[in-house]
Amino acid sequence: MLKLTNFAGSNKNIMENSEKRSLNFIEAIIQEDIENKKNGGRVHLRFPPEPNGYLHIGHAKSICLNFGLAEEYGGKCNLRFDDTNPVKEDVEYVDSIKEDIQWLGFRWNDKPYYASDYFDQLYEWAVQLIKEGKAYVDDQTQEEISEQRGVPTRPGIESPFRNRSVEENLDLFERMKNGEFEDGSKVLRAKIDMSSPNMHLRDPIMYRILHAEHHRTGNKWCIYPMYDWAHGQSDYIERITHSLCTLEFEIHRPLYDWFLDQIVKEGDDRPRQIEFARLNLSYTVMSKRKLLQLVEEGIVNGWDDPRMPTISGLRRRGYTPESIRNFADRIGVAKRDNVIDVGLLEFSVREHLNKITTRVMAVLDPVKLIITNYPEGKMEEVELINNPEDENSGSRKVPFGRELYIERDDFMEDPPKKFFRLGPGREVRLKGAYIVKCEGFKKDDDGRVTEIYCTYDPETKSGSGVTRKVKGTLHWVAADQAIDAEVRLYDRLFSDEDPAGHKDKDFKEFLNPESLKVLRHCKMEPFLKDAQAGEKFQFQRIGYFCVDPDSSENHLVFNRTVPLRDSWAKKKK
Ligand code: ATP
Ligand code: MG
Repeated sequence: MLKLTNFAGSNKNIMENSEKRSLNFIEAIIQEDIENKKNGGRVHLRFPPEPNGYLHIGHAKSICLNFGLAEEYGGKCNLRFDDTNPVKEDVEYVDSIKEDIQWLGFRWNDKPYYASDYFDQLYEWAVQLIKEGKAYVDDQTQEEISEQRGVPTRPGIESPFRNRSVEENLDLFERMKNGEFEDGSKVLRAKIDMSSPNMHLRDPIMYRILHAEHHRTGNKWCIYPMYDWAHGQSDYIERITHSLCTLEFEIHRPLYDWFLDQIVKEGDDRPRQIEFARLNLSYTVMSKRKLLQLVEEGIVNGWDDPRMPTISGLRRRGYTPESIRNFADRIGVAKRDNVIDVGLLEFSVREHLNKITTRVMAVLDPVKLIITNYPEGKMEEVELINNPEDENSGSRKVPFGRELYIERDDFMEDPPKKFFRLGPGREVRLKGAYIVKCEGFKKDDDGRVTEIYCTYDPETKSGSGVTRKVKGTLHWVAADQAIDAEVRLYDRLFSDEDPAGHKDKDFKEFLNPESLKVLRHCKMEPFLKDAQAGEKFQFQRIGYFCVDPDSSENHLVFNRTVPLRDSWAKKKK
């Protein structure tokens, strides 16, 4: 079974931490706030996903950052679902988000929180704003409203409904809530400044009418708060001290501040927003809309397809929580947008799997090798070390006999000089066993090699002390004992570095046609017979693989996580 080493996280105290490396800009802010006894010295963060899709590697960065900082400073981190748009949200997404966060090894404070739990409070605050003359009901369409907003360099046009009386606004807003009006027929807007150079302050919409069932509040509401109105207020209600968000929200900050100015009670702690650069990965698309498109159009087999950059996809592909957390640590946090090479993510998983996986022999494209001078019917066992990187991993016995399978491309009929594998008259070592010499081979009518004939030198058994050296070592599987398995060779989903970055081309034009190759009759050593879904191995000389949940007792399926070496780096050069 897969051994999930519990990644306890970095529970280092502040002193230790600052000794080890310099603080990033967010840590510096938090530390300063602690020193100044701001918020009574509390540190309380949150991760606020909208449950409208599965989490991806970009979210993983944000999760590692928020939960990681809470651990680092002995604070708390809430999981809050930002569920203000009932049309796109679903409990399936809520459940997957919880599962992914826990799988990464983080525990949220207390219980999951939901912005929808604050609908009553938000409504009350909206009424308060109306009473203070700071919000009004607008009967115009969204199109009219955005047209009147204008452009940053010129003032916008005030709505003809802007100066409605408080009484009229209160009445209309209540009737909006009671369901008297149709979708889109009215909105509630904050009355701020139609000539502000910051477009977000030009009377932003706070509520819209949506006769839609919500996955938690059912049909209780037919008006829903806009994200901008719900977000900062939710942070305030939960007494969040530091609200981390991605850079595109920097320009929203003055609006968030304006809202908080209206509602925060004197003496209360007030959330501080800090922006950081979102993770962009090469060869990947990360917008939930595009990922949903790949799922809905059947281009991938669901959100957890091993080619998806989703956390569930990476998990199924064979990534470990540790490898993702290490990746997040490595990339750190920045204040400017940048693109991270997906090769770094692949490096992180290779690095971790190298430490923890058992080395096994699996032949993906088998061809028979017959040792003509090995006694018929004889079987022996050779001993192989499970994992040279882990001295406690021990060793296992692997059956060896007269008929074996080796990789088809480890043999060449007419090899060039530098080919250190098998060819007529050449010698190689069979991993953990003997040196064999190729004496001949057989082909079928199509010219395909069907059998390779070798002789072995009984004096050369590995570990026997004989020092004769040959250049190549091949992996192999004993034919009689081999088990059949399916292997899914996954590669990057896109063959372009920036699939979504082409002006006149759809990102789907850059799908990698070779992102999945299925091999059906691979031969594996019998040790793998009882491998369980999720278990991970290194296939000697090939790469890292894990057992797919599609496996059944008589049909093993392996996913390639990554090859041993990065073939893309070579291609790029
Ligand atoms: P969309 O793709 O629809 O824009 P989103 O990224 O806004 O989705 P949310 O569910 O709102 O998705 O994100 C939850 C949190 O994850 C937010 O705090 C957001 O800043 C963070 N986040 C999302 N994408 C990234 C990313 N690529 N890098 C870092 N953080 C991210
Ligand atoms: Mg968002």
